[in-house]
Amino acid sequence: MDYLYAPWRSGYHLSKQGGCVFCDISARAENDRQNHVLYRDESCFIVMNLYPYIAGHFMIVPSAHVSSLEELDAEVWRHIASLAQKGVGLLKNCLKAPGVNMGMNLGRAGGAGIEEHIHLHLLPRWIGDTNFITTIGEARVFGYDFEEIYLRLLNEANGCFND
Ligand SMILES: [Zn+2]
Repeated sequence: MDYLYAPWRSGYHLSKQGGCVFCDISARAENDRQNHVLYRDESCFIVMNLYPYIAGHFMIVPSAHVSSLEELDAEVWRHIASLAQKGVGLLKNCLKAPGVNMGMNLGRAGGAGIEEHIHLHLLPRWIGDTNFITTIGEARVFGYDFEEIYLRLLNEANGCFND
């Protein structure tokens, strides 16, 4: 039996300047296409994982730089939960994924790639996809599939998350 440990690890690392990748994405809406942002509103944004364990892996991120879930504004947490619900629907409808993994790695001990800024991972899953996931590992995927899947999700994202 294949085992997939912590499939939602982000693989992101802080930039050499010590800045926060998520704060940078949050502050630069003009770079949304380049950063593969799917959606944004006043309190959150949704971005593709550039180091995906599987194609279609994205993250829901609060705009505020918060390192622990218990410090996150309760209203924002409820909003993230609502976006996650819609995000699961997006993966099922848009990518025809029969399964989804969803999770957060909190703190370095919890396996967080960027422990300073919490984020919720959503990954589409298909029966028998684990070998594929092992193969791509943490490789940065900028190929045709990544772009194509981003554009497919983007095409439906606004209708989905603004709903
Ligand atoms: Zn941040």
